[in-house]
Amino acid sequence: MTIAYLDGEYQPLADVRISPLDRGFLFADGVYEVIPVYGGRPFRADEHLERLERSLAAVRIVDPLDRAGWKALLEGIVERNGGGHQAVYVQVTRGAAPRDHAFPPAALPTVFAMSKALNTDPQTRPLHVITRPDIRWTRCDIKSVALLPNVLMRQEAEDFGASEAIMVRDGEVTEGSATNVFVAAGDALRTPPKSAHILGGITRDLLIELMAAADIEVREEAIPEADLRTAAEIWVTSSTKEVAPVVRLDGEAVGEGEPGPLWQRVNGLFQDYKQRLMRGEID
Ligand code: PMP
Repeated sequence: MTIAYLDGEYQPLADVRISPLDRGFLFADGVYEVIPVYGGRPFRADEHLERLERSLAAVRIVDPLDRAGWKALLEGIVERNGGGHQAVYVQVTRGAAPRDHAFPPAALPTVFAMSKALNTDPQTRPLHVITRPDIRWTRCDIKSVALLPNVLMRQEAEDFGASEAIMVRDGEVTEGSATNVFVAAGDALRTPPKSAHILGGITRDLLIELMAAADIEVREEAIPEADLRTAAEIWVTSSTKEVAPVVRLDGEAVGEGEPGPLWQRVNGLFQDYKQRLMRGEID
């Protein structure tokens, strides 16, 4: 039984009730985080919580908890759901109030958290992806719960027999519907630079750090769509997909049509990091 958290109370997920007047429901007026947990230990908790704080500030929701409060909540969910590997989902909305677009003067933010199982075996998941125009707004750096374009694109991928859509804006790769993108093409490994057109992924940032430490050159640089189509390797990264190799793009093989050598190496670095986290060698 999954244990969830709502506004100060832990309870079975199936018993959680949220008002239909909650602005998360009516306006998608809220933000969220997904924090992976390996062997009971949260992965990059401070980075995830910093991003949550930035998202809240960007949409002018007063942070209902301080950093210690968020960590206690995270720990509470992890423990009550049996430790081990899990993905903790946290959402904050502007709260319940009579429906009006303007901010309600008195509503208290709604704080909700739940946990779900985390698949920790990315090697078994080479992905087929499609490309789509990036039809989203220009504040994609905010981790908003307004995900309808992402949902539609992901479904288009499923309809095509693929599992992710990589988006292109003004001829350049932005990101996947729920992932960041790395592309090895020509003699360069690149990932798009952080901007308001992408979500600054925690997995992306860690990979850049791990590659720097291992002397693997990666550039945070715009990727023209044409380079995606001639890439030797493409990977997509996220908290739940880890570092997933892409083997087909719009039905065509990427490189040799199987996970490439650079991915093998970088995924190795990532898996080592997870092992060190689980052994308690890093926070
Ligand atoms: N971009 C988007 C649009 C996402 O939804 C996600 C998943 N949260 C990511 C990138 C990857 O971010 P992270 O590595 O922090 O999970």
